Amino acid sequence: AQSESALPALTPMMAQFFEIKAANPGYLLFYRMGDFYELFFEDAEIAAEALGIVLTKRGKHLGQDIAMCGVPIHAAQDYLKRLIGLGHRVAVCEQMEDPAEARKRGSKSVVRRDVVRLVTAGTLTEDDLLPQRGANYLATVSLVRHGELEFGLAWADISTGDTHVACLSAEAVGNELARIDPAELVLSEATRLALVEAHALGSGLNERLSLVDAALFESDEATRQLRQSYPGPDTDASAFPRVVRSALGALCGYVADSQKGVAPALRWPETEATDGLLLIDQATRGSLELLETQRGSEIGSLRHTIDRTVTAAGARLFSQRLAAPLARADLINARLDMVARSAKDLLLTDRLRADLKATPDLARALTRLALERGGPRDLRSVGKAVASAIVLAERLHQAGDLPQGLASVAEKLAAAPRQLAEDLLAALVEEPPMMTRDGGFIAKGHDEALDAERALGSETRAVIASLQARLASETDTKALKIKHNGVLGFFVEVPSAQGQKLLEEPHRDSFVHRQTMANAMRFTTRELADLESRIANAQHNALEIELRIFAELRKAVLGGLDQLRGLADALAELDVTTALGRLAANESHVRPKVDDSLSFEISAGRHPVVEAMVRKDGHAFVANDVDLSGSESEGGGRLWLVTGPNMGGKSTFLRQNALIAIMAQMGAFVPADSAHIGVIDRVFSRVGASDDIAHGRSTFMVEMVETAAILNRATRRSLVILDEIGRGTATFDGLSIAWATVESLHETTGCRALFATHFHELTALHKSLSRIVNVTMKVREWEGEVVFLHEVGRGAADRSYGVQVARLAGLPEPVLTRARQVLDFLEQRAAGATLSEGTGTVLDDLPLFAHQPPPAPVKTDPVYTLLDSIRPDDVTPKMAIDLLYELKKTR
Ligand code: ADP
Repeated sequence: AQSESALPALTPMMAQFFEIKAANPGYLLFYRMGDFYELFFEDAEIAAEALGIVLTKRGKHLGQDIAMCGVPIHAAQDYLKRLIGLGHRVAVCEQMEDPAEARKRGSKSVVRRDVVRLVTAGTLTEDDLLPQRGANYLATVSLVRHGELEFGLAWADISTGDTHVACLSAEAVGNELARIDPAELVLSEATRLALVEAHALGSGLNERLSLVDAALFESDEATRQLRQSYPGPDTDASAFPRVVRSALGALCGYVADSQKGVAPALRWPETEATDGLLLIDQATRGSLELLETQRGSEIGSLRHTIDRTVTAAGARLFSQRLAAPLARADLINARLDMVARSAKDLLLTDRLRADLKATPDLARALTRLALERGGPRDLRSVGKAVASAIVLAERLHQAGDLPQGLASVAEKLAAAPRQLAEDLLAALVEEPPMMTRDGGFIAKGHDEALDAERALGSETRAVIASLQARLASETDTKALKIKHNGVLGFFVEVPSAQGQKLLEEPHRDSFVHRQTMANAMRFTTRELADLESRIANAQHNALEIELRIFAELRKAVLGGLDQLRGLADALAELDVTTALGRLAANESHVRPKVDDSLSFEISAGRHPVVEAMVRKDGHAFVANDVDLSGSESEGGGRLWLVTGPNMGGKSTFLRQNALIAIMAQMGAFVPADSAHIGVIDRVFSRVGASDDIAHGRSTFMVEMVETAAILNRATRRSLVILDEIGRGTATFDGLSIAWATVESLHETTGCRALFATHFHELTALHKSLSRIVNVTMKVREWEGEVVFLHEVGRGAADRSYGVQVARLAGLPEPVLTRARQVLDFLEQRAAGATLSEGTGTVLDDLPLFAHQPPPAPVKTDPVYTLLDSIRPDDVTPKMAIDLLYELKKTR
C-alpha cells in the first residue's frame, strides 16, 4: 500500500466526491455542479456511452485524467429515464447550500452536497419516468426455511401507494412473480439462489434484480421499519406471518432509503388471496401473450388489442385484472352485470368516457403530494379529479337502473369531498406550474395580502416611468433612461457626453458611478436601490404567501388521503367497466354464461388478436366452435385432439379458447356468438416449445418440465392447452410421451383440454377413451397446392402436407421433388417399425409423474387399444372390414 505522503493531495471537491460515491455503491452518481449534474471516472464512461454524450476530462487523479461528462439540469429527467430504462441506478447528489455560504467559510471549502434521492426502476414517482399504462411495482422477497421453503412477497407501486403482500410456497412464488411483473425485485443473494432453484426467476426478471444486504430482511429491523412506516393505530404488522413481515419491512426500508427520509406513504397492504383467482402460471402467461408478446413487445399482446381505457389509472387496473382473472362465478357475474349495463347504454358509456378522459391521474398526484414531491399542478389535478367524480356520480344516478357494482361505484364517487375540490380550484390558476419554486400559481383574488404584494410588483413600471421623468428633468438630461440588468439591478444610463455632468456637483452626491461603456455611462441612486429591494421584498413576500397557501391546501388533501385513494379506485373501476362495454359493442363480443358447471362450449369463437391482424390484411377470420363440456359423472371434461397441417390454424384455435376463458373470468364479454364456461381454476397453455438458453435447458427439457408441471397441478376444473408435445425429441420418444400425456389428462385429471399434435397415431385413442374427440383443420388441395380453410371439422387429418407447406414457403423445386421421394420411401419403410421402441427410458429419467397417483396402465400399443375398444357382438360385417383397415393403418 502507498504511504500517506505518497498519495497526491485530493482537491477538497474530489475528497467529497469519493466520500459520497463510496456511500452509494452500485449507483451512478449525478454530482450537482451549478447548472449541471456531472459524472466522473467510470460513471462518466458508462453514462457517456449509454446516452451518447461527449466524454471530456477534468483535472487529474493519481496522474491520470479524470473522465467526466455532464447533463444539464433542465434535461436531466430525460437522461435519467434513459439510464433507468437501460437498467442503471442513479444517486442524485444536490448542492445543499448556496455557493456563497461555502466561500464565506474560506477559499478551500466546498459547497455541502448530499444525495437526496436514489432513483431505480422500482422507486420512480415522476410522471415522465413512469410507464403510462401499467403499474410500476417494486417487489421484495424474503425467505424462511422450516423444512419446506416459504417465501414472503411484498410489492408496491409507490407512484400510487398500492401495496400487497403474500406468503407463498416455492411452487407458487414464480407464478406470482410472473403475474406481478415487478420493475425491480429486491432480495438478498441467498434468496436469489433459492428462487433460481425453484425455477422462479423468469428470464426477464434476472435483469431487474437489486441485490441487497440480508440485514435489510432481518425481522427485528423489519418490525422497527414497519412501526416507523405505519405509525397508525389500526396497522398491526404482527398479524402477518414472520416471512411476510420481513418482506414488507424490507420494502418500506428500501423505499424510505431511496426517498431519503420522506415518508413513503404506502397504503396498508392487502393480503393477496390467490384462492379466488384464476391461476395462470409463468409459462402460460408467456405463451398466451397476455400483457406482452413472447418477443417482449406490447403491440400484438391481448392487452394491447382489447384495452380501451381512457385514463392511466384505468389502464393500470385493466392490466391488473387481465393478469389476475377471478375464479368465482358470483364475482365474475357481478362484473359482467356492470359491463352489460355499459354495453347496453352506449350513449351513457360514451359520456362517461369523455368525462373520464379529462380526469387527471388522481392516485399518482396524491402520492407525489404525500412524498413532498408534488407541486401546484398536482393540487389542481386533485381538485379536477374530485370535481369530475361528482359529475360522473350524477350521470350514473340519472341513468338509474344500475347493477350492484355500478351502484356502489356511483356511491363512492358521490361521496367525493366537494368542498375540497371547490377550494382547490378556486385557489389555483388554470394552468399552474409543476413546481412551487417560482410562485405564480395562486389565483388572483384568492388572498388579499398576496394581491397587494403582487400589485407592488406590477406598479413598478409606472413608478419607474415617473422616476425617470423626474431625474431627467432634475439633471436636465433628456436622454436619461432607467434600465435593469442582472448585475447592477436598476440603474440610470446616460450618453457619455452627459455622463461627466453627473460626476460633478450638485449630482455627485445622489448619483453613484458604476460603469463606463463605449458611449454611455451608468449610475445607481439611493432611490433605485430602495425600489429594487422593495420589489425583491414584494416578490419574496408574495412567494411566502403562496407557499403558505400551498402547504395548507396540501395538508387538506393529505388529511383526506384514504378517502381520495378510494375515489381514485372508483374512477379506475368505472373506466375499466365502460372500456369493456365499448369494446363489446365495437367488436360484437357477447356476454359469456359463467357458472359452476364443467361446461366449455363456445360457438363461433374468435381469436381477438389474430382476428384484428387478419382483418387488417383484408381477410375474414374464420370463427370456430368448441365443446369440451363434461360432468363429474362422466369423469370430467372432454379432450379435443386437433390434427392438421402446419399453418392450418391449430395454434390459433387452441389459444383463442384459452383467451376467451381468461377474458370471461376477468369479467369481459368474449369474441364469440355464445359462450358457456364453468369456472376454471387454472389455465395451462404450452404452445410451441422454445429453447430457454438463458437457463441452460434444451427445448425438450423445457417441454418436459412444463408438461410435468401441468400433469402434477392441473385439476378437474382446469383448462389445459397443449400444442405439439414431444416434438423436441426422436419420433418414438415424442410419440410415447404425447400418448401417455393424453391418457393421463383423460384418465387421471379429467380436465377440459385441447391437444394439438402431429402424431396421427394418437387419433386412435378416441376409440378407447370415451371423452376424446378428434378434430382437424380443414384443408383443400387444388392443383397440387394446399388451401387452408382454418375451419375445425370432426375427424382426423390423413396427412401433414409438410411438403406442400414447404412449397408455399418458397423452398426450391429440386429440393421439393427430392423431399417427395424421401417421404414416399420413409412411408413405405415405416411399415417395419414398431411403436414401443425406445419409450421406456425417457419416462424413467424424468420426474414427470412424481406427485400424483400412478396413471392408468399405459397401453403403448395402439393395436391393443383398438382391440380393447371392440365389442365383437356389436360389430356388423361392414364395420369389421373397416376395423381391419384401421388395424392395418396402426402399423
Ligand atoms: P398452425 O398452428 O396450425 O401452424 P397457426 O395457428 O399458427 O397454424 O395459423 C397460421 C396462420 O393462419 C395465422 O398466422 C393466421 O394468419 C392464419 N389463421 C389461423 N387461424 C385462422 C382463422 N381461424 N381465420 C383466418 N386466418 C387464420
